[in-house]
Amino acid sequence: MEGSKRTLALVLKRQDYREYDSLVSFYTKEYGKLSLMARGTKKLKSKLAGHLEPLTLVDLMIIPGKGRDYVGSAIGQEAFLNLKSDLNGLYYAGLGLRWFNRLVGENEADSELFYLLLNYLDILNTQESEELNKELGELIFSFFVFKFMAITGYRPATSDCLSCGHKIIPGKNYFNLKNGGLVCADCFSKRPLGENTELLTISDNCVKLLRFMLDNNLDLSQKLKVDKKLIKEMAVLTRGFLNFRT
Ligand SMILES: [Zn+2]
Repeated sequence: MEGSKRTLALVLKRQDYREYDSLVSFYTKEYGKLSLMARGTKKLKSKLAGHLEPLTLVDLMIIPGKGRDYVGSAIGQEAFLNLKSDLNGLYYAGLGLRWFNRLVGENEADSELFYLLLNYLDILNTQESEELNKELGELIFSFFVFKFMAITGYRPATSDCLSCGHKIIPGKNYFNLKNGGLVCADCFSKRPLGENTELLTISDNCVKLLRFMLDNNLDLSQKLKVDKKLIKEMAVLTRGFLNFRT
């Protein structure tokens, strides 16, 4: 069809729109986040509807419209069924998708982000059900978040202190949630009043884990050995860091 475009896309969100239609948010490989109209998806015989549920990878055809562009066709490529049949899998996939949707603006293409999200869902989808417990889910989610931050320009500083610039040495260190990076004990003791809520203590092992995540691809094939306590510390850090980005 004239003016139409094709791209791989992940369905982020779908809302009802008017009587028979839907408004669907996609993260596309070629064009970034797009919000498109899908016509007739609420009619009983709609073939389109099944492929437009969140957590689906589709081969998408986009047709230019007068106001909003719309979905010409969407052919399902991967439905992540394994993940969808697992409560923890579904929870962490949904969590990742919601944050991704909140932090990404419309019409900013970034194929690296597309593949990061696809990879995240793939990893959750290929875990054995009995292995995907809360701890592993948290670990994969944290990994995903810090990779996301690095790609979008919010890579936390982990080698030098944010305030004085000296090399971070093991011992007592802090993480500045607002500015994204480590702060040494010296600077912590001299911090101005009112900066307490944005500073979190961080253990040496958590610093190591953070550096590992930032320097490696999102991948769990190397079977990270991380204990529960460290995963919990990383989970608090991840959520605190996310909350300061919105
Ligand atoms: Zn310092």
